[in-house]
Amino acid sequence: MFDYGINFWARDDFIIEDGKVKLGANPKIAIIDIVNKARENGYKGPLIMRFPHLIHKQLDKLFDSFHSSIKQYKYKGKFKAVFPLKVNQFPNFILPLVEASQDKDYGLEAGSKAELIIAMAYTNLKSPITVNGFKDKEMIHLGFIASNMGHNVTLTIEGLNELETIIEVAKEMNPPYPNIGLRIRLHSMGSGIWAKSGGINSKFGLTSNELLEAINLLKNSNLISQFTMIHFHIGSQISDISPLKKALREAGNIYAELRKMGCENLSIVNIGGGLAVEYTQHAGFNNKNYTLAEFSADVVFSLKEIAKNKKEKEPDIFIESGRFIAASHAVLIAPVLELFSQEYDEESLRLKEKNPLLIEELLDLYKNINERYAIEYLHDSLDHMESLLTLFELGYIDLQDRSNSEVLVHLIIKKVIDTLKHKNHNEILRIQEQIQERYLLNCSFFQSMPDYWGLSQRFPVMPLDKLNIRPTRSASLWDITCDSDGEISFNKNMPLFLHDVDVKQEDYFLGFFLVGAYQEVLGMKHNLFTHPTEFSIVFDEDEHCGYKIENLLEAQNILDVLDDLDYDTKDIERRLKQRIDEVPNLDSEGKKEVLGQLYIMLSENGYLRTIRKNP
Ligand SMILES: *Cc1c(COP(=O)(O)O)cnc(C)c1O
Repeated sequence: MFDYGINFWARDDFIIEDGKVKLGANPKIAIIDIVNKARENGYKGPLIMRFPHLIHKQLDKLFDSFHSSIKQYKYKGKFKAVFPLKVNQFPNFILPLVEASQDKDYGLEAGSKAELIIAMAYTNLKSPITVNGFKDKEMIHLGFIASNMGHNVTLTIEGLNELETIIEVAKEMNPPYPNIGLRIRLHSMGSGIWAKSGGINSKFGLTSNELLEAINLLKNSNLISQFTMIHFHIGSQISDISPLKKALREAGNIYAELRKMGCENLSIVNIGGGLAVEYTQHAGFNNKNYTLAEFSADVVFSLKEIAKNKKEKEPDIFIESGRFIAASHAVLIAPVLELFSQEYDEESLRLKEKNPLLIEELLDLYKNINERYAIEYLHDSLDHMESLLTLFELGYIDLQDRSNSEVLVHLIIKKVIDTLKHKNHNEILRIQEQIQERYLLNCSFFQSMPDYWGLSQRFPVMPLDKLNIRPTRSASLWDITCDSDGEISFNKNMPLFLHDVDVKQEDYFLGFFLVGAYQEVLGMKHNLFTHPTEFSIVFDEDEHCGYKIENLLEAQNILDVLDDLDYDTKDIERRLKQRIDEVPNLDSEGKKEVLGQLYIMLSENGYLRTIRKNP
């Protein structure tokens, strides 16, 4: 895997050229060039890079695919979509999204009051707003205010009590009223780790019996004309398309039955989100078994068939895909701070006049490694290492011997890998798990990839350059939190190989891709590492590099982080100053200097600054 599976997960969003990861768009900007520019400007920690053109691209893909299926099947319903705000509410994502969707029937979906306020402020009046999730009277009231403002808003009812509240609020408010959607509880289920939103035991939706009751309530309160949509959502990241087809048949039949019961304005089937993103870097580990074209064709075809059989009009198709739209636009850049075995060079050997026999043998192995016996010597040295560690535990060798054995084994590993680097990797693949290198990254997985921590979701990762050099080290990745869960360990079924670099001499950066959906807002401040410094890359022909950096937002500084936790930062500053004032053997000049240094640190973010020793 020396292209890091880029054709699986990036398609043509990113490409490899001249040994670098570049944008697949025109101009083909190398990511490493953007990183270097940012670092020249002082941003040394992790970075989140946003690419608004990729938001635009995903929107076009979604609409093009559905429009072409609609054309293919001569379908009479329309296609509309909303972006579910819970997937990414950050303004540097939402504002470009809204701008990119101006020519489309595209709006926002809200699941809370705060999200609804975002939708009311940024959606065009003609674009749809849907409101899902549990609602109290206040939130329903807010939905009525939105429709009074002229918004095209649909409140999706999750339970009968919400409908009763709507009826109550309608009596208190003037028209225009919001449209009403009913979320149906399906028999079918999604598949994959996120599939908890569908199914008969799901948290959401009305049973058939409740649906009938809801129709009665709507009719009796003269609100049946507001009922326009049925909705379902079988879970995020649908890996297999067959449960979706089942869900469509169920929902399509419910749609037709309700129309026959006199729900004349019911004209929309909202199929929720769930369109999957391909995160895999390895053949045979695909996250989904369908393409977008297949997905849209299945949706259109299924609904057409049902409408035909039941002699009802073909419903408008409404989708709430979030992950598919947002994932690709953001990339996390993590500088590599250290390779753990870096410190092991010949100079760190502290050999004695007389060394234990096993150490002498290690020395021999090290000197005599050749291509033919490399693997055998490597095995022997790993065995010796085990024995030497046992000898140390039993008190037969001292710390100096133990150190020598560690250094020697690492030197042997490196020499073996170097000797075999031109040969087929399979030769060393068998033992890669034992000889992996640990890469320390200047980032927090808890902050920037919480789904890795919570759901074991893997994100594609690769170095930003050196891609014309074969990577030789099997890698496990460690973040800078002091939590042992901050590790992405080497997996021999889905191996990650990285380059053997001396980070004291040269920079080495890893990019984690497809982190634009869910990760940012779920990210947590474990160890008080905050959202990294971020910016957007916007193409600009007038700039000689072809782009400009916009919406730069620096990572929060330490005082702001503490302020967020509701510490009284003035009190913290006062206490620190007092402590320094009270140091007995420091004159006033000295105190001033320490205080000055402390203030600089308080005004910076908490990530490491990765300053090279020998630039
Ligand atoms: C979360 C959610 C979505 C978005 O799902 P994706 O997998 O991100 O497309 C859509 N609709 C509802 C009701 C949701 O809860």
